[in-house]
Amino acid sequence: MSATIIDGKLLAETIRQRVADEAKRLGITPGLTVVIVGEDPASQVYVRNKVKQTEAAGFHGSEHRLPESTSEANLLKLVQTLNNDPSVHGILVQLPLPDHIDPDLVIRTIDPAKDVDGFHPINAGKLAVGQDSLVPCTPQGCILLAKTVHPDLTGLNAVVLGRSNIVGKPVAQLLIQESATVTVAHSKTQDLSDVCARADLLVAAVGRAELVKRHWIKPGATVIDVGINRVADGLGKSRLVGDVAFNEAKEIAGAITPVPGGVGPMTIACLLANTLKAACWAEGKPAPT
Ligand code: NDP
Repeated sequence: MSATIIDGKLLAETIRQRVADEAKRLGITPGLTVVIVGEDPASQVYVRNKVKQTEAAGFHGSEHRLPESTSEANLLKLVQTLNNDPSVHGILVQLPLPDHIDPDLVIRTIDPAKDVDGFHPINAGKLAVGQDSLVPCTPQGCILLAKTVHPDLTGLNAVVLGRSNIVGKPVAQLLIQESATVTVAHSKTQDLSDVCARADLLVAAVGRAELVKRHWIKPGATVIDVGINRVADGLGKSRLVGDVAFNEAKEIAGAITPVPGGVGPMTIACLLANTLKAACWAEGKPAPT
């Protein structure tokens, strides 16, 4: 039997609409500013989409495009200016940054109340201790997608493959909050395929094209594939694949997210939700849950 394909595009559209309606109801126009340094083509596409969807939701979207040669000091100065601008509720500095700029320093300079990516150590710490915070967008998206299959994640054996600060760790924190039993696996994990094969819910965030094979998946498990990997299609072009070998995985999983069209669209939807939350805090209005 073939797995249910979890439609991230559809869920993302629903969330974007809900967020737009909520902002209208509250009478606020959330403002998101995206900063990009350099010409990385993938980052350019991400930033364009983020600003486009921000405006489509009726929010105020703006972008600062800085040349590759921008100094760290100038970028920090811009972040400070945005921190002090009351019309800017959310600040996102697109990663990766050029080598001469320390991304951790840039993230630490963003006002945590405007850190809509949720990467500031204050927000990471609040997430870890279960306090209300701005939660990283892709991990939020993973949980919402998993909940389309399991509205209650309590007691599920969840395996998170990957332990990065921006995906793996926050996904694990969120799953702990949802009362799942969580195992975090990484490049040093022994018997990786066996660990994964025990998962009722497997979240793959490793950045290795089609690493997760059919025999890594427990029959009927839910698989959330975060990976975005560009591979040659054999015809001189390239295509996107996830961290899971989708065609074989869908024959054994109960439900699975496709790449593209799974986790990817959820990231921007959750970014808009975070921007609305930050705007509500700034305006002293109750933030929607
Ligand atoms: P990182 O490279 O920061 O982290 C990768 C993690 O996977 C590390 O913890 C690493 O282990 C682990 N890992 C790498 N190779 C293996 C392996 N062979 N076996 C087991 N574990 C391994 O990546 P990110 O977390 O930033 O991103 C992961 C993927 O998600 C990428 O494909 C990225 O493009 C995608 N992504 C998608 C987003 C979306 O919007 N859909 C948003 C963000 C990321 P160790 O710690 O031991 O090195």
